[in-house]
Amino acid sequence: MSLGEFEIISRYFKKPASGDVLLGIGDDAAVVSLRSGQRLAVAMDTIVEGVHFPKGTDAADIGYRALAVNLSDLAAMGAVPKWITLSLSLPSNDESWLDRFASGLFELASKFNVQLIGGDTVRGPLVVTIQIAGWVESNRWLTRSGAQVGDLIFVSGCLGDAAGGLAALQELSEITESTRYLKQRFLRPQPRVSLGRELREIASASMDISDGLLTDLDKLCAASAMGAELDVDRVPMSSQLRGTFDADRALNFALAGGDDYELLFTVHAADQSRLRNLKTPLAHIGKITALGTVRCVRNGATFEPNARGYDHFHSGARK
Ligand code: ADP
Ligand code: MG
Repeated sequence: MSLGEFEIISRYFKKPASGDVLLGIGDDAAVVSLRSGQRLAVAMDTIVEGVHFPKGTDAADIGYRALAVNLSDLAAMGAVPKWITLSLSLPSNDESWLDRFASGLFELASKFNVQLIGGDTVRGPLVVTIQIAGWVESNRWLTRSGAQVGDLIFVSGCLGDAAGGLAALQELSEITESTRYLKQRFLRPQPRVSLGRELREIASASMDISDGLLTDLDKLCAASAMGAELDVDRVPMSSQLRGTFDADRALNFALAGGDDYELLFTVHAADQSRLRNLKTPLAHIGKITALGTVRCVRNGATFEPNARGYDHFHSGARK
């Protein structure tokens, strides 16, 4: 028998509510409890087939990725993710698709102790929206707007892998250790939630990189009314990325490719030593200036990034 909306929800998405979820899936709204001194942080991200992931992507990866990008938003704020709602627009009620989607979603949700507390299910083109909520201590959340002149700019992990992974999915049929790694970095980004929590006490500004380093650094600078000098040679790139693409293209992915979901943040120079105890790999890639623009520097000279470079993932259709 073909599944109706009610069966889809109860079979794939309804789990017993626990802990701070007082009322979960099944009523007109969910009810959760917050402790005193906590503030609610809320974010939402939508991913669309053919825009954010290629047609034919494994549903488990879609479920995983839809949550990962939301977790990353709360990571950037220094918040603890707790609850999600899921809006699912589906072309059909394909049970094996739903099963895989739910397995990817709940795999990541359980890793971060996040509960699905509600949502909406409709028929339509494949679009997945997750709204995430979590808590952060009063007055201790991170923002994009706190960077000051002289602050050092850092980034976590390596950049460009996800864009390289997407390009590999679309054009490379040969599967190597490196392309497998890059594809996983695109399909299953690892949100930097614990780093965000640690940075809450250290960083002056923070955001996650979803649209590409240059664009996102621009946004951080605009929010802080500052500029930046970015040392292109310091931008961290994985050996897998450098081994798969030529140097220009790898750099272009690292500077302009999106989807890495690493954290971009600034610290006052005096606080740099406080980063030493953190376990996440971090790279110092530049400094905040009063200029109002982002200037790229390479070998000490101004460097113009190749804006016309290879750019599937950052075309006008992407947001
Ligand atoms: P309403 O008509 O009042 O909006 P629905 O019948 O659409 O309620 O949904 C019933 C319950 O199932 C609600 O608690 C809703 O939050 C939940 N729900 C609907 N779709 C999903 C989904 N995709 N994931 C999780 N919960 C869902
Ligand atoms: Mg209702």
